[in-house]
Amino acid sequence: MRNGEIGYWMAQPDLDWPTAPSVDGDESVDVAIIGGGLTGLWTAWAIKQLDPHASVHVYEAEQLGYGASGRNGGWLSSKQIGLRSVLANGAGGRAGVVAMNERQKRAVYEVVDLLGADTIHARRGGALQVARSPSELARLRAYIDKSRQWSVAEEDLRLLSAEETSERVNMTRLVGGMYSPHCFTVDPARMVASLARLARDAGVELRSSARATAIQSGTFMVEGHTIRAGWIVIATEGYTSLQPNQRRAMLPMNSSMLITEPIAPADWKRIGWSEHEGVSSTAHTYFYGRPTVDGRIAIGGRGTPYNFAGSFDRPGRVDGKTIEALQATLDDLFPDVSMTPAHAWSGVLGILRDWSPYVDADEEAGILRVGGYAGQGVTGAYLGGQIAAELVLSRRTELSDSPWVRPLPSKWEPEPLRWIGANALYGVYGWADRLERHRNDGRTSALATIADKFARRG
Ligand SMILES: Cc1cc2nc3c(=O)[nH]c(=O)nc-3n(C[C@H](O)[C@H](O)[C@H](O)COP(=O)(O)OP(=O)(O)OC[C@H]3O[C@@H](n4cnc5c(N)ncnc54)[C@H](O)[C@@H]3O)c2cc1C
Repeated sequence: MRNGEIGYWMAQPDLDWPTAPSVDGDESVDVAIIGGGLTGLWTAWAIKQLDPHASVHVYEAEQLGYGASGRNGGWLSSKQIGLRSVLANGAGGRAGVVAMNERQKRAVYEVVDLLGADTIHARRGGALQVARSPSELARLRAYIDKSRQWSVAEEDLRLLSAEETSERVNMTRLVGGMYSPHCFTVDPARMVASLARLARDAGVELRSSARATAIQSGTFMVEGHTIRAGWIVIATEGYTSLQPNQRRAMLPMNSSMLITEPIAPADWKRIGWSEHEGVSSTAHTYFYGRPTVDGRIAIGGRGTPYNFAGSFDRPGRVDGKTIEALQATLDDLFPDVSMTPAHAWSGVLGILRDWSPYVDADEEAGILRVGGYAGQGVTGAYLGGQIAAELVLSRRTELSDSPWVRPLPSKWEPEPLRWIGANALYGVYGWADRLERHRNDGRTSALATIADKFARRG
């Protein structure tokens, strides 16, 4: 089994990348974007849509798509990004949050239209969150009730019975599910490659092996060369904590994935999953999974959520314990199907202290920071990029007045508190799941509720 190597998607031999040379001299540009993931590329593309004359360069430290963008689960979904209660405190209040949710719903279709459904292997199966215990089902009901208060309609989010859920995907112990039709599964690396071509064709210049250092107002360095820019957009998500003075701004949280070898057609008949739904669990220690167009299953979960001082393995190697846990989840879901693991990898999400995204433009310094989508950046980056473009060009629409436009929330706790807290929380979530399964009575464990409050997720 392969391990790391930036993940299965990026290791595919037939990806069609546009050229992205390294920097070989000083450069001067209207907008310099640091980070060649989905956020950086969407921002660059959106700026060129609004102002084709602006010169825009993207500087990527490694290769385009190297970060979470090329290694994620490939859910392009309309699932809420960030916490509604947090975002409603900002610009636009409740109405702003509701408007942003509507915008996000449209975004998933726009992205597929722009990048090409076939090109990015997009399949529209919707998002299916499964309940495998009475307490999980109770949480789904409560979530739907709460969503109705935020104007989420039945046609956009609804409860499914156990039968309806297992007709879609035949997993063990299903007691119900929650379904939204607005989700595509995509191939993340093909998505980044297609977007990079779109940006390049719009006139964006792409640079790889171009690590930005000494970032300050109007300038930064790349390999000894000086880059001068009217605006600098920092789109480095989970990698932000590596920058000076940013250690406690964005927590780099690990997410790990495992993909199987192609599964036999007879086994697929038993599993179902023919619509390619993006499936997630409602357990506190949750998993997410999806099929691929060539008949594999890719499954993800937290593994070791956070390493001391935010360190992480750059190429994404996964420890044996995490691989075993992901394999055990597959065996538990589909005990009658034989699956061979093909490749495991990990990447980092960027998590702000209040678990909600932000776009923060310092007009005086000409520096904009964007991100913090936690596990929802595949759609989030498209919106974050458009907001960033509007702010940089001083264009105002409902997007640039959205609740995402806000300063950095409070910082994460210093070490070792952050490390102890993050890992203790996931330990507690594991206990809570076991307790709920044992009790089997529909109540959510108080342990999990306290952990949510402590993490400020509840
Ligand atoms: C395993 C996993 C599964 C996920 N699954 C999903 C999913 O199914 N759906 C979903 O919506 N979201 C998912 N996410 C989250 C999603 O992938 C991210 O939110 C999104 O890709 C963030 O994009 P980004 O461009 O902001 O950041 P990234 O893709 O992380 O890009 C940041 C880039 O900045 C570069 N960089 C860093 N420092 C510098 C520097 N100094 N100079 C130049 N470049 C620099 C990095 O090399 C990197 O390429 C997942 C994430 C992971 C890790």
